[in-house]
Amino acid sequence: MPHRYRCPVCAIRSRPYWTRAGAQEHGRAHRRRYHGGDHPDGERIVYAPVRRLERGELAAVLIVVALLAVALVQRLV
Ligand SMILES: [Zn+2]
Repeated sequence: MPHRYRCPVCAIRSRPYWTRAGAQEHGRAHRRRYHGGDHPDGERIVYAPVRRLERGELAAVLIVVALLAVALVQRLV
């Protein structure tokens, strides 16, 4: 499950990490670099749900998969 580190003082959120520990490590590095190791008020690890593909993105993925399948079949024949 993806997690992000959020720092409300800096108004940032980290990239998503698959583990909570990954987001926590990002938070530790952020605190060391920007806050002298102190904990900013309100910082937290938040769950970041996986975004579903939109209709156009799904269509693009299906087209690419179909083209790859056609190329594979042509190579086998
Ligand atoms: Zn910060």
